[in-house]
Amino acid sequence: MNTPLKAFHRVVIAGGGTAGWMMAALMSKLLGKQLDIRLVESEEIGTVGVGEATIPALHTFHNLLGLNEAEFMAATNATFKLGIQFEGWKAIGEDYFHSFGSTGNDHWSAGFQHFWLKGRALGLARPYTDYNPETVAAHANRFAHVPNQALNYAYHLDAGRYARFLRGLSEGYGVQRIEGKIARVLQHETDTATARAGDIAALQMMDGSRIEGDLFIDCTGFRSLLLGETLGVGYEDWSDWLPCDRAVAVQTASVREAWPYTRSIAHPFGWQWRIPLQHRVGNGLVYSSKELSDADAPEVLKRHVEGELLIQPRLIRFVPGQRHQVWQRNCVAVGLAGGFVEPLESTSIHLIQRHAIRLMQLFPAGGIQQADVDEFNLQSRRDLEHIRDFIVLHYHVNARTDSALWTHVREMTLPPTLRHRIELFRETGRVFRPSDELFAENSWIQVMMGQGLMPARYHPVADLMGPDELQRFLEDIRVRVQRIVAGLPAHQAYVEQLCAPF
Ligand code: FAD
Repeated sequence: MNTPLKAFHRVVIAGGGTAGWMMAALMSKLLGKQLDIRLVESEEIGTVGVGEATIPALHTFHNLLGLNEAEFMAATNATFKLGIQFEGWKAIGEDYFHSFGSTGNDHWSAGFQHFWLKGRALGLARPYTDYNPETVAAHANRFAHVPNQALNYAYHLDAGRYARFLRGLSEGYGVQRIEGKIARVLQHETDTATARAGDIAALQMMDGSRIEGDLFIDCTGFRSLLLGETLGVGYEDWSDWLPCDRAVAVQTASVREAWPYTRSIAHPFGWQWRIPLQHRVGNGLVYSSKELSDADAPEVLKRHVEGELLIQPRLIRFVPGQRHQVWQRNCVAVGLAGGFVEPLESTSIHLIQRHAIRLMQLFPAGGIQQADVDEFNLQSRRDLEHIRDFIVLHYHVNARTDSALWTHVREMTLPPTLRHRIELFRETGRVFRPSDELFAENSWIQVMMGQGLMPARYHPVADLMGPDELQRFLEDIRVRVQRIVAGLPAHQAYVEQLCAPF
């Protein structure tokens, strides 16, 4: 059993990308008065420079920080995001939309999909997306805040500006920023009153200075300088399920109004993203190095973007997977230092937020307790494995025949958890969401049906409605969706008006 250590109050955050500054902002806002928080970052090393699409859960983080939405959007050139358009994922030429929010009305015993499936069998139902306000609004290029949160949304944001915005907040709450390169990570050689031999003691900077701390947050990106390199925590490689291991990214000038959704376009070698901001578009290719060479990737990307290039294409190598533990000794890895699934479905910023909130909940004020560490690692692993399954689903259920990559992912052995979900949906149309999972039923349904997985049957409760009643039920929902969207302004005009005072 661990003996409690003296109060921890010196926190050192290594790295100032999105992870470092999100962590600093939350910790300083909530615990700034009790803690001495320092953040080290190196302009020369820079950040990964991508990560610009988010999911609606970011509202929770912003609410905790007490942010003004319009001010945040103006500062980060953000736009609204209602979901993701998947183009060519099921098969070449076939698209679908994964929206935030819900589709239709559920019955207590069965989800809307069962009623829709019955309507489809009888030839009464329109496309599933017609019953979802976010999808209809996205395709009409419209957006506004509407009462009762009838449109669920997230943001596209400029990652560099977001880090600077959070830095301003954090410094306001007392975080001290230290510019410079970490040369070495020093460990305690013997037990002390507040640490054990092997715990991290300090960051040794290139200029010879030392930054000592009690708790270290590793936000050094893929380098994982503290958790991976220094403490030797190994990495679980998921590339058998997720074959993409490279990305090349570039920013282009906008040539059209920003649309309120991310585009994810499948290619024989992987896929491409387009993320529209107020002032520019973020673009990238995510690919398997077995299908496309690093030398060819930038040229391929250039052929698939619109508008003038604002920076030169930048290559990023990664291994999809996670560290065996994200909290070890007195070091917690947040962001890319702890793992990375793949950018599809934009979940990394969300995971940073989850880690940041979880660390606040389990903050080791009286010293590190192994039970807290275990709980943190358990919850973090569950989060990431759930997201992994959801992302693998997009690859696996496909009918593409144009490359070895798509054949491999269709034929590969799945994680048992995902195999079960697919079988349950295929046979019965049912999806269940364990309470702490990120993606809700409607996300799974949209992606499974979008990728071409249609259930063999629907729940018998749908038979309680005869054809006329079912038609009226479906039509009422469709008309309500149309009414919501008809009242919305153009997305770009709405963003400009909202941000104008800032
Ligand atoms: P980084 O941005 O790499 O920051 C690392 C920091 O550590 C930097 O400040 C660096 O200077 C510092 N550092 C490193 N070494 C040293 C040293 N020796 N001395 C001093 N400082 C040091 N997430 C999403 O949510 N949505 C997306 O759409 C999305 N798209 C992505 C696309 C790609 C291709 C990739 C690879 C990732 C994407 N992500 C996305 C993930 C997202 O980019 C990251 O989660 C996010 O940017 C956080 O990165 P980070 O702060 O962990 O690392």
